[in-house]
Amino acid sequence: MNEQARIPRATAKRLPIYYRYLTFLEDAGTNRISSAELAEATKFDAATIRRDFSYFGALGKRGYGYDVKALLSFFAKVLDQSSLINVALIGVGHLGHALLNFNFHQSSNMRIAAAFDINEHRGKILSGVPIYDMSELEEQIKAQRINIAILTVPQEEAQEITDRLVSAGIKGIMNFTPLRVSVPDGVRVQNVDLTNELQTLVYFIQNYASITTGK
Ligand code: NAD
Repeated sequence: MNEQARIPRATAKRLPIYYRYLTFLEDAGTNRISSAELAEATKFDAATIRRDFSYFGALGKRGYGYDVKALLSFFAKVLDQSSLINVALIGVGHLGHALLNFNFHQSSNMRIAAAFDINEHRGKILSGVPIYDMSELEEQIKAQRINIAILTVPQEEAQEITDRLVSAGIKGIMNFTPLRVSVPDGVRVQNVDLTNELQTLVYFIQNYASITTGK
């Protein structure tokens, strides 16, 4: 979509939150919503919402508001086609929180569009990212056409979640858990181990020190 280039980053960043609320509304059987109601729910002001929606060409009708179903299918498409790559985060604990705070959006074309957990965070928005219950994992990954996931769950859960991610269509996993998860051909796993990284650094520093000091 060429027009995506003109959508401001701040607007693009609000997209997953709009999408989240529209899903809520649809589940609750709500057919239409005004920008004022959406403002109340998302805590963005109504003028910001109207401006954001106008960038997408989604224009509400005066006195009617926005059609929820139409907006939802429209936003699913925009999320998919936006210039940012959508990533899912599974496990919103200590590490998950840190990654949500960091989000990749600032410095790159990636963003965490949806996070998933089994505990009390679900339904909340943290660092601008909607947190979904694990029961919504497959549905959201497919709907938002996410194909990369970050795994920050306890290692005992890692393989089962990996299997679910793979069957939902995930093609790449950034695995922070200590478990070396098994995936079928065609799915790539990138293991990240900060202890290893630090040990490598220590090794090079010690090596370097021994060369320079001649010990
Ligand atoms: P944590 O206990 O703070 O967080 C784990 C989160 O996963 C919790 O929010 C929990 O509710 C959630 N969770 C549990 N079961 C789940 C399930 N079935 N589905 C979805 N969510 C589920 O743990 P942490 O300190 O954030 O560590 C997370 C993982 O990252 C662990 O496996 C840990 O070993 C690993 N870790 C790796 C590195 C590294 O360098 N690679 C560094 C720190 C932690």
